[in-house]
Amino acid sequence: MLGLMQDWPLLVHKIIDHAALNHGDREVVTRTVEGPIVRSNYAAIARRARKVAHALDRLGIKLGDRVATMAWNTARHIEAWYGIAGLGAIYHTLNPRLFPDQIVYIANHAEDKVLFFDATFAKLVEEIAPRLPGVELFVCLTDAAHLPKANIPNLVAYEEFIAGTDESFAWAEFDEHTACGLCYTSGTTGNPKGVLYSHRSNVLHALIAAQADAMALRACDAILPVVPMFHANAWAIAFSGPMVGAKLVLPGPKLDGDSICELLTTERVTMTAAVPTVWLALLQYLEKTGKTLPDMKRVVIGGSAAPRAMIEAFEKKYGITVIHAWGMTEMSPLGTLGTLKPHVEAMEHERQLDYKCKQGHAPFGVEMKIVGDDEAELPRDGKAFGRLKVRGPAVAKAYFRGEGASAFDAEGWFDTGDVATIDAEGYMTITDRAKDVIKSGGEWISTIEIENIAVGHPSVAEAAVIGVAHPKWDERPLLIVVLKPGQTASREDILGYLTGKIAKWWMPDDVVFVDEIPHTATGKIQKMTLRERFGAYRLPTAAA
Ligand code: ADP
Repeated sequence: MLGLMQDWPLLVHKIIDHAALNHGDREVVTRTVEGPIVRSNYAAIARRARKVAHALDRLGIKLGDRVATMAWNTARHIEAWYGIAGLGAIYHTLNPRLFPDQIVYIANHAEDKVLFFDATFAKLVEEIAPRLPGVELFVCLTDAAHLPKANIPNLVAYEEFIAGTDESFAWAEFDEHTACGLCYTSGTTGNPKGVLYSHRSNVLHALIAAQADAMALRACDAILPVVPMFHANAWAIAFSGPMVGAKLVLPGPKLDGDSICELLTTERVTMTAAVPTVWLALLQYLEKTGKTLPDMKRVVIGGSAAPRAMIEAFEKKYGITVIHAWGMTEMSPLGTLGTLKPHVEAMEHERQLDYKCKQGHAPFGVEMKIVGDDEAELPRDGKAFGRLKVRGPAVAKAYFRGEGASAFDAEGWFDTGDVATIDAEGYMTITDRAKDVIKSGGEWISTIEIENIAVGHPSVAEAAVIGVAHPKWDERPLLIVVLKPGQTASREDILGYLTGKIAKWWMPDDVVFVDEIPHTATGKIQKMTLRERFGAYRLPTAAA
């Protein structure tokens, strides 16, 4: 017998309609690409999103067509997302930090028909446009007066593109399983792979993200997503923010400590989210200037492991609660969030910090398990570590065009490529990406744990650990360190600092100092490049 409740399809544009009706004058503030800070609100965004849908419809864009965006977090970018989705087309985020060849590959693989882009990327678009034969129109997210003089065919300014369209244009009607968004993983191995979100998965994921023990979003919040919309959906904030009626503060192209701090303060931001490298810069800026952030309540850190020293600085020095989160493009992207369960809330702060360093627990809608090489599930005891697999309504079941099928098993589990432990209370700790793990004498060493402790040394700005060949142990850890400006430290200082904090056999066999550690387009340490660079490195312990 079927239930007798209404069939109300979970469609993404219903979120902006809800926000327009119930939180219509709630502000959406943007630091624009043109420079000034511009104020809009949900009512205006919903109207302009319908104009985008109408403009695309006039152009002949149809259900299922891919429309790319290569843009910063701005109100126009949000309008474009909702407008594209409301027509039943698919917004496809392109990460401008990728190499031009990769962007060309991705845009052609997706068969993008239109490309919305910010003027910041005009040179890049000019360079790649001749290699994008499927793109019929290039829309620069600006007005006619600011349209860059670039040699781009079929170029139009966004404001011209939507001029004369109907702000009450009707959304298209379709099933909630219809594709809505497309985002490629950076593809550190092989070609980038497309993750194709549906309307239903995006709406469910936004509900999951907003929950009290996830990001705890409320109408009273002012949220600044530093994490770009072109990286894993800005962690759902463009959906979950309007869903709850929170104010949005969008940083546009300026992501340096000074600019972010200015917006956090003047717009009285209560909640923000970004990867650790961004927070490293902000904390250094706060330290240098002596500024504080009195309105800020919560900061979500994810994308890479948040080191203890960073969590401690936010919580102890600035009184800001850290929510450590883990996820990935394939999970829309949120997987776990490190909010406190009752027994942890009752602990004293130092012990709570131990838990905050873990990547968190799964909200309803995310199933997780860890498995060994034989695929058998391992115990949730906080000690056994194995490959982390996940299932859920906002988890990919395949990649676009059937690539990378080996990551999905017959029972519907997706292999995250991460290695983790899960404790009895459900807190999960990432120990490594499977391809970065060091196997020494048959035992696994967690590179992430060593890195996190090393950055607690007062002179260390950033640290990376890689495995280097060793005649007796197969591989041993090499610690690569970037010192803070003007600081000095020796190999012995660093190893001395680690002593007693990690198992003896995890102790790196050597420390090298470098000026810079390379990062990927999504802010992660590029271990593959480091392994290539130090591939022939001879450890002092390898001599015997
Ligand atoms: P890409 O792979 O394209 O860089 P993703 O954001 O999808 O982008 O990367 C997901 C991966 O990032 C995860 O599989 C995991 O290895 C890593 N990651 C994300 N959050 C954390 C975290 N809090 N701690 C450790 N690793 C993390």
